[in-house]
Amino acid sequence: MNQLENIRFILVGTTHPGNIGAAARAMKTMGFSNLHLVSPKIYPSAEATARASGADDVLAKAVVHNSLDEALVGCEQVYGMSARLRHLPVPVLNPREAVAHIQQTSDDAHIAIVFGREHSGLSNEELDRCHHLINIPANTDYSSLNLAAAVQVLAYELKMTFDPSIEVGRVGEERQAINADDLEHLYIHFEQALTTIGFLDPEKPKNLMRRLRRLFNRSDLDRNELQILHGILRAAEDGKGE
Ligand code: SAH
Repeated sequence: MNQLENIRFILVGTTHPGNIGAAARAMKTMGFSNLHLVSPKIYPSAEATARASGADDVLAKAVVHNSLDEALVGCEQVYGMSARLRHLPVPVLNPREAVAHIQQTSDDAHIAIVFGREHSGLSNEELDRCHHLINIPANTDYSSLNLAAAVQVLAYELKMTFDPSIEVGRVGEERQAINADDLEHLYIHFEQALTTIGFLDPEKPKNLMRRLRRLFNRSDLDRNELQILHGILRAAEDGKGE
């Protein structure tokens, strides 16, 4: 797996310093800090620092170069971000495909992701330096994202794959798994309790138990939830005797 530090974000010829700051912020929110600037128009700049908000450390260590070639030194794979789908003999990937592609490179490979100018994008010579192009599928009538927004999309997509701490749907809570036996015991308990309280008629069970199985089979119960359900069923059974 690639280290986040091995992924270099390169902004070429940025006109508005605010966009450099916003790009630094976009990177830092996703855990990236390797920022390179090629001939920025105005930099350093108070506006860049202001727009970086708490990401001024990323700006402070940004490396400024005079040419794209200089910024690419040491990079094995170069991906160019392009808002326009040009008819070039270079494969065009969407961000998800690009991240899958990066995942196949060796762990210590240095990866460059190159972003163009606000008004004109990347020149043909700069695109020639890129091994692959990445296009963010957008509104076909209005496909050009703000530079920092494009950085954010890529950084997010990379984080989703390369950050091992992300476990979708399991944030903030330790859930203990249950197994098929546990579910079977729950269904037996349901059947007994519902019979005891007169909700289920064993002579005419209809599809009640099948429907309850369908409900709980798809609900991904954890041990805690299972115990709550047993508790409710016991309380219902006890209540019947009062
Ligand atoms: N007007 C320029 C786009 C400038 S946006 C053009 O048509 O090329 C500034 C940079 O953000 C682009 O050079 C590109 O690197 C990135 N970007 C913006 N929208 C993008 C998209 N839909 N897909 C990929 N990169 C995009």
